[in-house]
Amino acid sequence: MAATHLWVNVDGSDDPGYRYRMPRAEVCVERRGTLLKNCGEIAKALHRPPQYLAKFCGLLLGCHAEFDEEQRAAVIRGDHLPATVHGLVRKFIDGWVLCARCRLPETRLEVGRSKVTFDCKACGARRGASAEHKLTAFIVSVCRRARTPNWQTGAELDMRDARPAASLLQGSVKWVSKRRAHSVGSAADRQPRAMAL
Ligand SMILES: [Zn+2]
Repeated sequence: MAATHLWVNVDGSDDPGYRYRMPRAEVCVERRGTLLKNCGEIAKALHRPPQYLAKFCGLLLGCHAEFDEEQRAAVIRGDHLPATVHGLVRKFIDGWVLCARCRLPETRLEVGRSKVTFDCKACGARRGASAEHKLTAFIVSVCRRARTPNWQTGAELDMRDARPAASLLQGSVKWVSKRRAHSVGSAADRQPRAMAL
């Protein structure tokens, strides 16, 4: 399908010299709901776990949505127009990927015990995600369940491992004991490397 090969600028611009690219969102409606078929690919290009994007769509539409690991798609309950889903992807990028200051998609997420911070690798700006946004709570709770304070750029959440999470501990992400986790939370600002996503 030709649409598979369509790549667009992450910032939504038409600038041919822009270096950050992502696959254009492919949307279709199936029996089980509306599918963002290439959610996995898009999330990879944006350096975010695909579960975040799927959840974000559900939160804004007020319906259940989740990432289907096998199909690499976001499954959003109900019938939604492709334009609606395109708009949600756009909003996700604006709010959760692009730096608020320099507008480059170079932010990494630092996940603390109750907050999420954007750390821009391009301009150094730091900004906290809205504490009221339900996606913040989702990210924090998933990190906590996965028993890891964060994960590497673009890494995916393996929800099957979210309980024992042994495999998650094999990478460069280390979980610390509960007692130490408290100090990690407060030391995050001084030691971004340890918490960088
Ligand atoms: Zn920046």
